[in-house]
Amino acid sequence: MKIVRPYSGFGKLLCSLIYVLCLPLYVLKGKAWKYPRVFEENPRFMSFKDILYFAYKYYFKSSDLPGSERVRQHFKPLGQPGQYKKLATLSIGGDLMPYAMLTAQNTQNLWQSVGPDFFASDVVFANLETPLVSQLPPAFVPEVMLNDMHFNANEDMMRVFSGNAQFKGYDVLSVCNNHSLDQGVEGLDQTLAYLEANKIKAVGARKESQDQAFTIIECHGIKIGFVAFTFSLNQFERPMDKPWKVNALRLNTYNCDIQEIVNEVDLCRAAGAEFIICSLHCGNAYQAYPSEQTVDLFEHVFEATGVDIIAGSHPHNLQPWTFYEYTSKQTGQVKKGFAIYSLADFVAYDIYTWCHLCAYLKIELYKDEAGQLQFWPIVKPLIMQNQNNALQLQYAEVVFQQAPLSDEVKDIKVLYDICMQPFKPRS
Ligand SMILES: [Zn+2]
Repeated sequence: MKIVRPYSGFGKLLCSLIYVLCLPLYVLKGKAWKYPRVFEENPRFMSFKDILYFAYKYYFKSSDLPGSERVRQHFKPLGQPGQYKKLATLSIGGDLMPYAMLTAQNTQNLWQSVGPDFFASDVVFANLETPLVSQLPPAFVPEVMLNDMHFNANEDMMRVFSGNAQFKGYDVLSVCNNHSLDQGVEGLDQTLAYLEANKIKAVGARKESQDQAFTIIECHGIKIGFVAFTFSLNQFERPMDKPWKVNALRLNTYNCDIQEIVNEVDLCRAAGAEFIICSLHCGNAYQAYPSEQTVDLFEHVFEATGVDIIAGSHPHNLQPWTFYEYTSKQTGQVKKGFAIYSLADFVAYDIYTWCHLCAYLKIELYKDEAGQLQFWPIVKPLIMQNQNNALQLQYAEVVFQQAPLSDEVKDIKVLYDICMQPFKPRS
């Protein structure tokens, strides 16, 4: 199955070259290069072998398909919600990445199908995976990314991300990901200033040491809290003189200390948050399932913090989702958290076809008979469609009805079926 699909002649040529250069790897390692179960994938600490493995799984074979037995068993059907009256709605999207492909011309119809529902929620959130420094020239992601680039978006790109001025845009954005420091600490500060000037709350980083990196939005009388952490800052580390600047922990390692997440959630709750979303930018890129290490991390974060939702991002393609039942340390009662391991690239255009399958999460908040705040999550899988460079996000199920399916859509459907597997009736 072909999984990397460049769209320009130059892109095809570059990819063919890389493919030829990497061919000895394929000959040497065959179809199933088994790699250590815990792969940190953090450029700051990558060995040469790690880089080769990364190229192998991108160009030859997506990794760990179909995931270990334990990880597959982790995903269970969601069940059915009872009757309820919605009090508030939340939309949670994945990564907003400044791909050169996302011009105003190419994105005129980008939001036509999805925008009216996605942006209609009371609170709209996503992960802004780039600094935005207007004074510096933009640095967009090229079709074929050959090295670790330092991104910089501009206002035109932000307009594309935010619904082309046809919708209200975002209420909260995470600025906490492996590209947070691409334009240095100053770039992060300017991004925070830009968001503030545009009345968008930022989460996961601080301008000043006394600021909070969490944020709370009150909507229909409910205080919704957001916290965010990232597994890596690419080749950078937290600034020595300002370690509080951005919430980075080595989340892709087994011995990662998550006390900072616990403290942050405690502060957010103490500030009044009744419902908390934790954005974790971590996991491994280009694989269908999360690793066992990521599954363990999410469980650990639920148990230690009592957050309601963990929204994963960074693996670039969609990964499955599930409820996780645990005893809350805060109340001593059994609680259900909801985890989606990767929402994938939301507004982006990677040449790896699986990256064109993403989703947004719609959360409906309501109160039960006892007056307790409850929620129901709805995952809406989407496909980034490309017709002669005109891009459009479309609901996956709508695309699958458009027979005959193209080779690319057939390829995407393989991943869609993996993600939907737990929800199929068992024979
Ligand atoms: Zn990332």
